[in-house]
Amino acid sequence: MNRLRTLDIKYLKGVGPKRAELLDKQLGIKSYYDLLCHFPNHYLDRSSIYKIRDLQGDMPSVQLKGRFISFSLQGVGAKSRLVGLFTDGTGTIEVVWFQRIKYIKDAYLVGNEYVLFGKPTEFNRHWSMVHPEVDPVAAAEAMQGLRGVYPLTETLRNRGVSSRTLFNYVMTALSVAKQISETLPQDIISRFNLMPLNEAIVAIHNPKNNEQLQRARLRFKFEELFYMQLNILRYTRKRSAVIRGFKFPRIGHFFNTFYSQQLPFELTGAQKRVIKEIRADMGSGKQMNRLLQGDVGSGKTLVALLCMLIAVDNNTQACLMAPTEILATQHFETISKLVAPIGLNVKLLTGSTRKKQRDLIHQQLQDGSLHILIGTHAVIEDNVQFQNLGFVVIDEQHRFGVAQRARLWKKNITPPHVLVMTATPIPRTLAMTVYGDLDVSVIDELPPGRKPVQTLLRYDEQREQVYQAVGRQLKQGRQVYIVYPLIQENEKLDLQSLEEGYELICDTFPSYRVAFVHGKMKPTEKDYQMSLFASNQAQILVATTVIEVGVNVPNATTMIIENAERFGLSQLHQLRGRVGRGADQSYCILMSKQKIAKETRQRLEIMTSTTDGFIVAEADLKMRGPGDLEGTMQSGIAFDLRIANLASDGQIIQMARNMASDILDSDPNLEHPNNALLQRQLNVLFAKSVNWGLIS
Ligand code: ADP
Ligand code: MG
Repeated sequence: MNRLRTLDIKYLKGVGPKRAELLDKQLGIKSYYDLLCHFPNHYLDRSSIYKIRDLQGDMPSVQLKGRFISFSLQGVGAKSRLVGLFTDGTGTIEVVWFQRIKYIKDAYLVGNEYVLFGKPTEFNRHWSMVHPEVDPVAAAEAMQGLRGVYPLTETLRNRGVSSRTLFNYVMTALSVAKQISETLPQDIISRFNLMPLNEAIVAIHNPKNNEQLQRARLRFKFEELFYMQLNILRYTRKRSAVIRGFKFPRIGHFFNTFYSQQLPFELTGAQKRVIKEIRADMGSGKQMNRLLQGDVGSGKTLVALLCMLIAVDNNTQACLMAPTEILATQHFETISKLVAPIGLNVKLLTGSTRKKQRDLIHQQLQDGSLHILIGTHAVIEDNVQFQNLGFVVIDEQHRFGVAQRARLWKKNITPPHVLVMTATPIPRTLAMTVYGDLDVSVIDELPPGRKPVQTLLRYDEQREQVYQAVGRQLKQGRQVYIVYPLIQENEKLDLQSLEEGYELICDTFPSYRVAFVHGKMKPTEKDYQMSLFASNQAQILVATTVIEVGVNVPNATTMIIENAERFGLSQLHQLRGRVGRGADQSYCILMSKQKIAKETRQRLEIMTSTTDGFIVAEADLKMRGPGDLEGTMQSGIAFDLRIANLASDGQIIQMARNMASDILDSDPNLEHPNNALLQRQLNVLFAKSVNWGLIS
């Protein structure tokens, strides 16, 4: 198979240099190999031949077998067309061409037997077929079964490259390639009863039947996922073998004092378990890279704080990085209040920190008197140097790329332990792939006394009642969020609807104060408005999704999300997490137009039916595919999946991972002669990818 990578596509019969360039530009097809790996995205059924007698009005494309009786040119000028009368002995059908008339007249002969493939239409009891595919019987029989239909671009179509063209190229390439060398070890093929490559490569383009197609697909999915897992795991293992981390053997003064005197509440069982997992990592001598998943409100901050105290107890510094200024500030306020009594020095560093304070922070970081630094991106700037950074917490990780994590890493000779916290639950299979290099801890329990948020779907016609319900909450002294979507392409309009919304709310609830925030505001103004709401000077907050992450106002019990149909599921879940933080029953009301697409309604109904973030995330992944997650959370390990689907192939991922893991257990460096093929494939497949495995 690898030999085919070196065969330039331009030498394939019928391609040539011009088309080769086009194929490369449009589809990235450079070699025979690339062509054969350009898999169909669906299939046409050419497994059966229909009789003209049995045709029906609503059929998709079908095959007919028979002969042309005559050809005639009809109409004049631009309207002229060639009509062939075709029969299979059970009836006749008119075959019509509007283009390439001259060529066709010469190419197809009266009396010869052909197979047509096209969509039959009926008019006035006469059947016709426009621009069908026409093949001599022998050629048609050679590709009986299901025939691949390929993803194409508009440019390709305009330049005369159809799906059929590609199929023909594939068939030619296969006939030239003949014997294709296997890319999976024989024992893996036998163990999972996989289809051998030779068969599978034919079957994926031109399967005899659906069963064969499924077996071919399984083989390619497995192969893809297997090599991906093998690649991830070999680096993860190498890294933990090579790189030494801090060893934190002690639980000391700060942790113990805080735990016994300052802990604001009993930890949940899940919080305790997770702290144990993190402690074990930090005490092991290997460098920790751990993902902490916990639904909104599950109490991740406290876990992070306790772990930071362990780091400080072991004479190192800790740093917490958050994605926004508001969040960083909120963390700073919570944490500095909690640890003030035990005499820790905690400081906040953001883009708006004044120079004098900034200088002080730099100095204290270097002389070691600053124990915990909390901040935004500002903390990864090069001029921020620690004396001895031992532990890094990254909150709401999906906003940070791996490169940024790597920069934090480099702040020390010994790399700090890294804890990445996210409230966007990542389904297990995806975590295993995207975060193949991270260990995962899960807080799967909310603090006691929380009532699940009641989520309701309401339509614009019901706005009156919704506002009445809001009024009742306000009367009871509760606070309310009202969220508007803001979509970048249409900023002006969005802002306008936000401002109108604000005015409507002010008019509807004249006896309450309404705060107002959006992303385009100056940070100082935003902070001021937020603080009005946080301190209950304002009872209603009209906002865009800037409040999406982290903000904590337990007295807020109602959230109205306007145009909910415009939000993604994960985003809705994040937003909803802003309420339900106190002991009172909370509500999330999704407002939408009455007329929405079926899928949109389904999406909103998932929100009304569950508060479990994992279920929401799984559903989101199934509906949207993993594209978003891949984009924002790339682990940097080559991610070009041709055929496997992270959302639906969880079981195959698991099988592939187990297999990869077993192999590495017995031969970590893949040096055994039996594993030579694996080593070779990894080199071929991942030669070009950046090796983040060693740094993140
Ligand atoms: P998240 O995981 O979303 O970051 P937070 O850490 O902000 O959640 O915690 C949410 C709220 O729950 C905070 O007000 C916090 O003080 C509170 N909390 C955290 N742990 C517990 C606990 N064990 N018992 C009761 N309340 C808790
Ligand atoms: Mg949080």
